[in-house]
Formats: sequence, C-alpha cells, structure tokens
Amino acid sequence: MDGKAVDRVVELLSRASQTYALTGAGVSTESGIPDFRSPGTGLWSNPEACSLATGEAFRRDPARFYRFFLPLWRDYRRAQPNPAHLALAELEKLGRLRGIITQNIDGLHRKAGSRVVWEVHGHLEHLICTRCQRPAPFALADEAWEKGDLPPRCSCGGVLRPQVVLFGEPMAADFHRVLVFLRQGCDLLLVIGSSLMVYPVAGLVDYARQLVIINQDPTPVDERATVVLRGRAGEILPRIVSGLRARLLPG
Ligand code: NAD
Repeated sequence: MDGKAVDRVVELLSRASQTYALTGAGVSTESGIPDFRSPGTGLWSNPEACSLATGEAFRRDPARFYRFFLPLWRDYRRAQPNPAHLALAELEKLGRLRGIITQNIDGLHRKAGSRVVWEVHGHLEHLICTRCQRPAPFALADEAWEKGDLPPRCSCGGVLRPQVVLFGEPMAADFHRVLVFLRQGCDLLLVIGSSLMVYPVAGLVDYARQLVIINQDPTPVDERATVVLRGRAGEILPRIVSGLRARLLPG
C-alpha cells in the first residue's frame, strides 16, 4: 500500500469540513458478498441476473424473480460488516464524515454503526405490497421460500416486492435527499468499491470539489481524483482512520 497516498488522504480528511463517502458493491466483497463487475466473480457474469433484474421481469414472473434473487439476498442479510464498514463508522464518530451514500442494499453500513446512510438503490429491510402499498417484514419472503410458495403475498393478496431499485425504475427517495445535501457543498468525496459505471449515481462525483478513489480496479474518473488508492478497502480504510485518529487525538 502506498503510505504517502494514505498520508495525503489523512491530510485531506483533517482539513475538509463537508466530507461524504460514496460506496459500491466493492466495500462488501470482504464480507463475502460478490460485486457486479469484478471479472469472473461479478454477478453480471451470469446473463440470467441481467435479464431478471428489471421491473418488467419482476411483474411478468415474480416467483422466478424471487427464486433467482432470494438466495443471494438471504446471504446479504446474514453477512457481517468488514473492517471497511467499521472504519467508515469510526470516521463518522470522529466527526470527519457527514454521511454515506451507498449503492448497496445489504444494510452493512448500518450494521457497522454508521448513522447517516442514504441507500440510493433501496434496501432489504422490508417488503412492500404492490397492491395496497403497505410494508411487510422481509421474513415473509423467507417463509415463502421455505414453504416453496413464492412469491410472498400481503394479507390483502397482493404480491410483495423488495424495496430495491430494479433496472428501468426510478431512484429511491434517498437519492433525491442526498442531492439536497451535496448541492449545499461537498469539499471531499471518498469513492470506495464502485466501478462508477452505474448512472445516475456515478454522476454524483461532479458535486465534489476533491475526490479520493479507493478501488481495486481502475474507474473512468481516476484521472480527476486528487488521490487514487488501488487495493482492498478493508485494508486501506483502517490505515486511513488510524492515521487520522493519531493526528486528531495525539497521545
Ligand atoms: P461494481 O460491481 O460495478 O464495482 C465494484 C468495484 O469494486 C469494482 O471496480 C472492483 O474493482 C471493486 N472492488 C471489489 N472488491 C473490492 C475491495 N475489497 N476493495 C476495493 N475495491 C473492490 O459495483 P457498483 O459500482 O456498486 O455498481 C453495481 C451495482 O451493484 C450497484 O447498483 C449496487 O446496487 C449493486 N450491488 C450491490 C451489492 C450489495 O448490496 N452488497 C452487491 C452486488 C451489487
């Protein structure tokens, strides 16, 4: 790991007053959740995933949709935060991070203790009825899976759907909420574990005065970043946070 680049990020974090983090699937791979685009292991290497992850595919055959995605989502819900999630939660506690904008639906930032989290592609906290719009516990999907009676249904008989943003659907309300904050000012954005290929989220980098990118593979905006750290987020972020802690709380 490039020690000088780590020191440079510590410096940027200690000076900035409006810092946000933007995270993607790569922040959770060290918790055992595959990302979408890493060569070979990414979910999009499976063509069925691409064709099923649309609002239209869900409406056409919700049982097939659940048969494909529910085993993955049950794993997401059992996963535990890794050192990258914990370091970001610590950064918030140190008063150096205003919030996390995440594309992930796995809930691991909250599990790690982060309080301000915008889940712009939705979450797996609960389901929602496509007929009466009432929320329902996610456990109903687990029960339907175990009974072999998919899709899960509301007490009104309507099909329950997860609160995740599928291709062809509008962004979650959190996306619009975070825009309000970013428009007020963002002097530093830490982008962690995202290929920055999915819009409109990738466009959020334009709100930041300075960018730090922590990612295993190159991204299309690397050349605009003040610092690029190539490697595992679970190794790099704890190094940054311990450098910052030493600087802010000497002795
Ligand atoms: P992506 O798969 O397009 O990119 C992930 C990036 O993370 C890659 O560039 C890869 O090099 C990098 N990476 C992988 N492991 C890493 C690690 N340990 N440390 C640092 N970098 C690492 O993911 P994306 O940009 O988030 O966009 C794809 C979509 O995937 C998002 O919309 C998100 O909703 C969805 N998704 C979410 C989850 C989840 O909730 N955990 C999992 C898979 C996909």
